[in-house]
This record gives sequence, C-alpha cells and structure tokens, in this order.
Amino acid sequence: MKDNEDDNRLQANKKKDDDCWNKKGKDCGPQRNDNPFSFFKGGKFKFSAWYFFIALLILMFLNTFLAQQRMASTVSFSEFKQLVRDGQITQVQLSPDFYYGRGTSADGESGGITYRTVPVEDPGFIPLLDEEGISYSAVSQRGTNMLSTLISWILPLVLLIFVWRLMFKRMGNMGSDVMTFGKNRSQIVAEGQTGVTFADVAGADEAKEELEEVVDFLKNPRKYTVIGGKVPKGVLLVGSPGTGKTLLARAVAGNAGVPFFRMSGADFVEMFVGVGAARVRDLFKQAREKAPCIVFIDELDAIGKSRLQVAAGNDEREQTLNQLLVEMDGFDATTGVIILAATNRPEVLDPALLRPGRFDRQIVVDKPDLEGREAILKIHSKDVKLAKTVNLREIAKATPGFVGADLANVINEAALLAVRSGRTEVLQEDLQEAIEKAVAGLKKKNRLINPKEREIVAYHETGHALTAAFTEGADPVQKITIVPRGIGALGYTMQTPVEDRYLMTEEELLGKIDVLLGGRAAEKVKYGSISTGAANDLSRATDIARKMVTDYGMSDKFHNVALTKQANPFLGDTGQAMMSREYSEDTQTYVDQEIARIVAQRYDRVVKLLESKQDTLEAVAQRLLEKETLEAAEFASMTGLKEKQAL
Ligand code: ADP
Ligand code: MG
Ligand code: ZN
Repeated sequence: MKDNEDDNRLQANKKKDDDCWNKKGKDCGPQRNDNPFSFFKGGKFKFSAWYFFIALLILMFLNTFLAQQRMASTVSFSEFKQLVRDGQITQVQLSPDFYYGRGTSADGESGGITYRTVPVEDPGFIPLLDEEGISYSAVSQRGTNMLSTLISWILPLVLLIFVWRLMFKRMGNMGSDVMTFGKNRSQIVAEGQTGVTFADVAGADEAKEELEEVVDFLKNPRKYTVIGGKVPKGVLLVGSPGTGKTLLARAVAGNAGVPFFRMSGADFVEMFVGVGAARVRDLFKQAREKAPCIVFIDELDAIGKSRLQVAAGNDEREQTLNQLLVEMDGFDATTGVIILAATNRPEVLDPALLRPGRFDRQIVVDKPDLEGREAILKIHSKDVKLAKTVNLREIAKATPGFVGADLANVINEAALLAVRSGRTEVLQEDLQEAIEKAVAGLKKKNRLINPKEREIVAYHETGHALTAAFTEGADPVQKITIVPRGIGALGYTMQTPVEDRYLMTEEELLGKIDVLLGGRAAEKVKYGSISTGAANDLSRATDIARKMVTDYGMSDKFHNVALTKQANPFLGDTGQAMMSREYSEDTQTYVDQEIARIVAQRYDRVVKLLESKQDTLEAVAQRLLEKETLEAAEFASMTGLKEKQAL
C-alpha cells in the first residue's frame, strides 16, 4: 500500500511536469523557479518535498492505526478475565479506554499485545491480577493523545497548504500575472529583429521619407550627438486603420537593425490599478538596457485619451498615462531609445502627450493612391501564383479607397477562391470577385465613396486647382488628390506658399476667395448644380470677406475704417472671442450685404474663368479620376502654364 501510494504521487508529479514542458517552459506555476524544496530544478524528474512530507505523515498515521488494529483482537471482559486466569496473558496495560493484555500467542511465541477489552467496573479485577502474579501498569491518557492531537492539528494545516498550492498551479497564467505584474508581458513582445524593411511597405512614400531620419539616427547616433543635435524621441504615426502604421514601425526597426519592443495601448489597461504603470516602467527599463532600440506603442489612444474629455476618470488609465509621460521625460534622445506610437484618432489624445519632448513629431500615413495600391498589390502577390493574364494595375484602379490591409486581404481572398475552384493559379476573375466581396464589407463600414461622388470630388478639386493656376499671386498648386483622408475630407488641393507672408494686398485676399470658391464653381460649370461638398470652402471664403470689411477697411462705405476693436493678443489666447463689435445695427446690415456682394461677385468671376477653361477642366478632372493624385509638374503641363516659380 505504501509503495503504491508513492508511485501514484510520482506519476502525478511527472504528468504535471510534462504539462509544463508543453507550454514551452513559461508560466509553469511558481514552484518551477522559486521552490527551495524542489529536488531537481527544472529537470524532467521533479519531486517536490511537499508531497514527500505529506506522504510521510499519512504513513505515520496509518502505521499507528494499523499497529493498533493488528495488535488488538477485542474480546469481552469476561473472556479477558478467563484468559488471565488461564495464564494466557502475562502482562496487562490499563488505559482508560481499553485494557490490553500481552501474552503468549497460539504458537507459544511471547510478546506483542494480543488482546484488548473494554473495561468493566470490577473491583475484583486488580486482586485477580495480583493473585495470578501478572504485572500490570496504567497508561496515562496523554501519551496517546499527544500523537493524535499533533495529527489533528498538523494534518488540516498540511492539507490547507496542499490545496493552496494546487490552486496556484490551476490558475496558471493568471496567478503568475498577479504576482509578477507586467514582467512577463513585456518580455513576450520584445520581437528582436523584425525582419521587415521599408521594401515591404509601399504607397506611403512621404511617411517613409520622414522615418528615414529615425533609421539614420539609430544607425549612426554619434553623427547627431557630436553636433549636439536633438533627434525627436517620440514619433506619432497617424492614419486610418490598415494603412500600415504597425508595419512601418517594424520596418524602421528592421532597417536600422535594432530590437523592437511592441506593446498595444490596450495591454496597459488592466483590471488592477497600477499594473499598467508597472508595465510601462518595465518596458522602458528593458528598452534602456537594449538601446539602441525602438519602443512601439500601438493604439496609443487606448491610454492616451485626453484626461479632460473623460467625464468619469479612469484611475488606471490615468496612472498609466502619467507613468508614460514620466518615462518619456526621463531619458534624453542620446540613450538611443526612440518611441514610435500609432493612432487613428489623434484628436482624442491628451495634449500633454503631444508637447515638445514627447510625441512632438507626427507623421501622417495616407491611404494609398493608384500607384501606391499597385505597389502594395505587387508586394503581397509575391508569394502567390498569379496567371500571366493578371493585370494588377486594373485591380488597383478598381479599388479606390482601399488601404494596405484591404489589398492584402483581396490577394489572399483571391488565392482562396482559386483553390476552391481547383486551380493552381490566381486569375483576374478571382481578384475581381475578391474585390466585390471586400467592397461589400467596406460599404457596410462606410469607408467607400461611390463613383458618382468620386467624380464630383474630382471636378471640385480641379476647380480649386485651375482657379489657383489662373489667379495672379495665388499660391502655386503642389498636389491635387481625390484620395479620401480622415473624416470629411474627400480630396484636397495642396498649395504651398512660395514664401512666408505677413502682409496681404487686397487683390491677394480676393484671389484667395476665388480659389476657395473654385470648387463649387467647377461643380456649377460641369453639372449645372451644386453639392454640399463646398461647405468648408464657403465658410473660409466668407471669413476672409468679413475681415476685409470689418477689420481691414476694404469696403466702399467704410473705406479705411476698422469696425472691430482688436483685443490685446497677449491678454490670453481667447483671440476671436475678444473682438468686440463697435458699430450699429445699420452698419451690421451693411456689413452683411457687403460680404454677400463680394462673394457673389467673385463667384461670378470664377465661374466665367472656368467656363472659358472648360476643356482644361475636363482634361484635368478626367486625369485625376484616373490617377487620383496629380503632382505639380503634370498639372502645370496640362494647364499649359509653366510650373510657377518663386517670384
Ligand atoms: P495599421 O497598424 O495602420 O492599422 P498594419 O500595419 O497593421 O496597419 O497593416 C496591416 C497589414 O496590412 C500589414 O501587415 C500589411 O500586410 C498590410 N499593409 C498595410 N499597409 C501596407 C503598405 N503600405 N504596404 C504593404 N502592406 C501593407
Ligand atoms: Mg496597427
Ligand atoms: Zn473644396
């Protein structure tokens, strides 16, 4: 029985051990590392002293119990007395519970207690013993009870400890998490060399260019520190989901050949207050040891939400955020740790995060345009067998508004479709079908604009661009795009000023209004009707017109008269709100009329201009629909104007 039990224990032990190894050695309950009783640490055969101890106790208990069972064949008191008289019992022990009679056994061997009986109140018993000449003694109650008391105290205690340890093991991951806080987590996400480089990212050329500097710094930190230059510690990648922010961060680490620590904002926010902060501390401690390296915090908004906006404060997140701020201030860029973070909602971030010395540099990761999409498709179809007839350019054309992740998905889906129909190559139809599937999904999420709207946007933006091109003194057009970005903006025309301007002439202000009205005017010229797409343009145009009348004294009636009084700009930053109106209702009416007159007059002018350039409008808009983005040079050549040079 004893052997059996030990065997079972051993087997149970071994099994637990195997389970542990299956988990690749992590989190195998606390006893793996820190139990001083382990006989063989981490080895295959592990025999916890605890089990040994328990087994010993049980055996001890059984031993006493069995010994008593064995020795005692219980007889009646009268029989016992008879045995005494017969001389079969040679020694008697008197205890309160039993009388034990030791005597010769049947085969004549002496020794060993053989009989016991429950005592009966019998005053003649002791004289009988004296008569027979049998030695007798009494046993104190305490002797036996000491043992049982001991057992009754120790056994539950041991059992308790046993159950407690068992529970720890059952809880496994959770138990160790609670006890060691964030230690394990941050170790898990240290990705070492990422193996991803800029070559794996396409269509985000501007972001890549800006990140080159970070790579260069990580590679040659001395080049910067010798001069005493400061490299940004924190770079925030901003862009819609799936545009490749995480991928870019990995690529930076890969290109620089440095370790990459990744953590998602959500990882920091835990049930227990203080755990997130401990994780942040841990993460930065490790990063400092491994410098130069990159710490990447994905989904920064999960911890970095503005503390002002949240009505009911979340202690845990706040503590985590504070710890992050402290850590970011705690080292200077010369340590070689660069923090990248990604978010698709920069507007909710706490302003403290965006201050100089923290995430002061922001890089926008745009949705890819036609060229970009084609390049991304190429990257993701590298390992996929495409039929020779597949035309990725066509696929790129058919997927406006798709981001990198969507495109990767399209390729994958097409490959699955090909397999399902038993082919070994992906055909154009597979890709087309995959797009349709994806479009259905994206439409639900409101992430696609329909072709008609896209066309309107193209004409609208072309209107802005053409007006700018043909307006004297307007900032030159640098880029026109109809790739939607962010919320609301369906496209934009980018103008870069040739130089910093502090003064503006009346003509230039009017020119600005013209350009702003150009979008709506183009819609009018092309379709004869107008859309809501110009709301923002109009409010800006109106603003300029109003300022011309009220602030700059550029109206006929109030020539050279400022109608508003400018507050001291240094007395707080309330700015606009501090402007006080210093004129009558009549004047207000005049101001309103004058604004309306200016805007109407400019609008007529722009419509006439665009009507006279209708061919160009058509050509540029169509080209834009095709290419989605037009650069300055191509636009200039289409308008027949030279690219505007700095004056
Ligand atoms: P984000 O972090 O911006 O939400 P990810 O970096 O996680 O997006 O992108 C998800 C996946 O989509 C990437 O792993 C990659 O396969 C693909 N992807 C996204 N953008 C690009 C890109 N510009 N070039 C190549 N692949 C991309
Ligand atoms: Mg991501
Ligand atoms: Zn516009």
